[in-house]
Amino acid sequence: MSKQRKITLQENEIPTHWYNIVADMANKPRPPINPANHEPIGPEALAPLFPMELIKQEVSQEQYVEIPEAVRDVYKLWRPTPLYRAYNLEKALDTPAKIYYKYEGVSPSGSHKPNTAVPQAYYNKMEGVKRITTETGAGQWGSALSFACQFFDIECEVYMVKISYEQKPYRKLMMNTWGASVYASPSDRTQAGQKVLADNPDSPGSLGIAISEAVEVAATNDDAKYSLGSVLNHVLMHQTIIGQEAILQMEKAGDMPDIVIAPFGGGSNFAGLSFPFLRMNLAEGKNIRCIASEPTSCPKLTRGVFRYDFGDTIGMTPLLPMYTLGHTFVPAKIHAGGLRYHGAGAIVSQLLNDKLIEAEAIDQLESFEAGVAFAQAEGIIPAPEANHGVATAIREAKKCKESGESKTILFNMCGHGNFDMSAYEAFFAGKLERHELTQEEVNDAVAKINTPEVV
Ligand SMILES: *Cc1c(COP(=O)(O)O)cnc(C)c1O
Repeated sequence: MSKQRKITLQENEIPTHWYNIVADMANKPRPPINPANHEPIGPEALAPLFPMELIKQEVSQEQYVEIPEAVRDVYKLWRPTPLYRAYNLEKALDTPAKIYYKYEGVSPSGSHKPNTAVPQAYYNKMEGVKRITTETGAGQWGSALSFACQFFDIECEVYMVKISYEQKPYRKLMMNTWGASVYASPSDRTQAGQKVLADNPDSPGSLGIAISEAVEVAATNDDAKYSLGSVLNHVLMHQTIIGQEAILQMEKAGDMPDIVIAPFGGGSNFAGLSFPFLRMNLAEGKNIRCIASEPTSCPKLTRGVFRYDFGDTIGMTPLLPMYTLGHTFVPAKIHAGGLRYHGAGAIVSQLLNDKLIEAEAIDQLESFEAGVAFAQAEGIIPAPEANHGVATAIREAKKCKESGESKTILFNMCGHGNFDMSAYEAFFAGKLERHELTQEEVNDAVAKINTPEVV
């Protein structure tokens, strides 16, 4: 019997709706609150930054939200994405487990992020917005949004952390190719940037500073709005196109996963793959384990606390209910830049608190060992973030080998690493170190959180 490695769908099988898991949750995520008076904030508080349609989606309780035709049309450039059976990896691990992965690296910018960048650009366009601002660290989000804005003829203004701007010229050039303006942050274009530069002209920048710049421009210009690539409810919902396609593909393969795994930064690619499967647990009594894979150097899910906290480092956002290490926590400079975020989105945090999902922490050395094993077996070189999901999948496959059980494992290969080869270079040169927070460091970080409990 010939092996089917690649399970594809037709263009007309692209899902027509996004799935909103909030509709099926018994305990709904708690609302964001105002830092000044701790009262829930209303949608109007977000109006200077986001278009109304995205704010509606942020608070929606509808189970499904229709994907606009124009968005589905752009999705067709790379969707449906393939799902693969990883026969070679199974063989290399000598495991009875069946391993599948969904590959989001086929998108133009190389990750899952355009799944939300495209609808965000579209809804802004529909409401007459001329310019979208955002921040980017390593550049995955900035490049996805630049790509999306070009399709809807919106200017894209990206504040890129200065040190990354200097060290990662190719991501910046991708953004330029798609017509975006990219500024090294801190810049002299905003008051926030000017203030930092006055204190320290050589500041390498940080994500917190870049956020402040992007938000300031959006808040002070009527024709500009701001956009985020993870954490928020509407972002997670847009990503559910991944899991819905994966269910159709697993059905075609005549299989269904026992375990669904994805790397975890703010939660968007994890939610995207796992929520449609979790719906089967919540609504159909299935028992699929969903595991989020985070780095040991930024372990908010496995070692953080469930508290209200700021979404940004400086403390400008509303307070969100989240698993967090504290908004002032600065993770070590691991190469998986997309996973260096102090908190987790409200929906994922509520699900974890209710023990409906699981989390596991992976050290960066183990993650790169897994990524190289994957590349040598399956060909694709994963993004450093994606390596965490591979490592968790390999751990589960090894457990199957020990127990002799044949489980079906599905993980999200959420992006390729073709622009991250310097991280692999460091790994091959033996320069990557194991990094795990001590209990003292976790206690110190958590002790600094002075925001309210989630009740
Ligand atoms: C941004 C990014 C992540 C982390 O963000 P999530 O919102 O948790 O998905 C993970 N992998 C890749 C490839 C990314 O670009």
